[in-house]
Amino acid sequence: DEDAALLARGDAEYDDDEDELIPPVLAIIGRPNVGKSTLVNRILGRREAVVEDVPGVTRDRVSYQAEWNGRDFTVVDTGGWEHDAKGLHARVAEQAEIAADVADVILFVVDARVGATATDEAVVKMLRKKKKPVLLVANKIDDFNQESEAATLWGLGFGQPWPVSALHGRGAADLLDEAVSKMPEHSAYGGLIPRGGPRRIALIGRPNVGKSSLLNKLAGSNRVVVDNTAGTTRDPVDELVELGGRVWRFVDTAGIRRRQHMAHGSDYYASLRTQSALDKAEVAVVLLAVDEVLSEQDVRILQMTIDSGRALVIAFNKWDLLEEERRRYLEREIDTDLSHVEWAPTVNISAKTGWHKDKLVPALDRALESWDKRISTGKLNTFLGELVAAHPHPLRGGKQPRILFGTQVSSRPPRFVLFTTGFLDPGYRRFITRRLRETFGFDGTPIEVSMRVRE
Ligand code: GDP
Ligand code: GDP
Repeated sequence: DEDAALLARGDAEYDDDEDELIPPVLAIIGRPNVGKSTLVNRILGRREAVVEDVPGVTRDRVSYQAEWNGRDFTVVDTGGWEHDAKGLHARVAEQAEIAADVADVILFVVDARVGATATDEAVVKMLRKKKKPVLLVANKIDDFNQESEAATLWGLGFGQPWPVSALHGRGAADLLDEAVSKMPEHSAYGGLIPRGGPRRIALIGRPNVGKSSLLNKLAGSNRVVVDNTAGTTRDPVDELVELGGRVWRFVDTAGIRRRQHMAHGSDYYASLRTQSALDKAEVAVVLLAVDEVLSEQDVRILQMTIDSGRALVIAFNKWDLLEEERRRYLEREIDTDLSHVEWAPTVNISAKTGWHKDKLVPALDRALESWDKRISTGKLNTFLGELVAAHPHPLRGGKQPRILFGTQVSSRPPRFVLFTTGFLDPGYRRFITRRLRETFGFDGTPIEVSMRVRE
């Protein structure tokens, strides 16, 4: 029946225990418009990476789980990039280098119809230093007659070029056979990229709390990949930032960076951006500016985050501006206005000076660990049994609703269902929720406890 199905589903998901070993990483590197996205689609066997007839069109994702010949691996696409002051060469080389650093095997894609360009040469130089297996892909060889064009690429020094048509699939199977044969069983470098891709963070907060300053501070001292549209004025969408030895994905950064040009302090746009960022994120860092009184808008933004079911870290920003008197008031504010999110890890930071920015990663880790957490049905019912024995539900009109059993039906965020013989008082439900948090440690994640009443 339905209950049994719920239980079975709960327990089935405990079986796939986190595997510490990460599948090998295949990085696709090359200039804009050489066909990297098309090749990624070919590898994935589906049209997931967006390809348009626009050079380096914006892509939403940069890493994908793939499989070939029964081998699992992660594909990292270096995405598009913008022409900026640094110049295209530097930009391509810099982004390619990040991908190369995390890769076990590299596909270096060149447009065989164009031949090797100066930018390609710059990438070659960088790749040579990495001393990793590189397969040179001579792309856009759509038929046999064009194969001679691939031959000119021998000169790049990566041995035999692989003639491929990413668009039509020609040569792709041979290329992948070779790539997979060069892969180690597990990633040697991919520890930088967590299984399932970089964790997705949203920086949230009302205008002027310091989102853009924090993003710049975090990204500034670390290398960043920007998913972007080449040669257009489109802003970066997501940015990959290396923090604490891992790559994280900051979502929807366009909104943060673009705000400078927008109507000052527009509540409407701020809340649109907040929702859009939350939709794409796994964890939100809500920034509050400690030099100002907690506002209604701050409280609303916090509530949106909780309602979104995302993991939550609260950053008290502008700590450098905090004066003694205000500090005492802030403590009162936290007690009164933020008591409903006392479970969220907090960090005191200064986005402007970078003070305490290293405290962010441990807080994010804690919140995400809670968000991902699963409590087995056995453990949960032991807990419920002891709890109910010590603190039974109060009598209501001579009746006492009993909890028959409970199960965690999902994670991200954790959701629990309790099967009961009657409705539980809201107060009692809150009590159970609080005890669940205390016992199992759900710092940084909202949790939901619902009931199924059975006669
Ligand atoms: P990226 O910027 O390197 O990711 O390049 P895309 O995958 O977006 O491809 C750029 C353009 O080249 C698109 O118009 C593709 O359709 C085209 N293209 C990609 N691979 C091939 C190919 O093997 N043959 C031909 N004729 N066109 C291709
Ligand atoms: P956003 O609208 O949330 O992106 O906020 P910004 O990052 O643009 O910051 C708004 C203003 O606050 C700017 O003038 C920043 O220089 C300033 N600011 C941001 N963080 C700090 C901080 O930690 N300390 C101080 N003193 N000023 C800050």
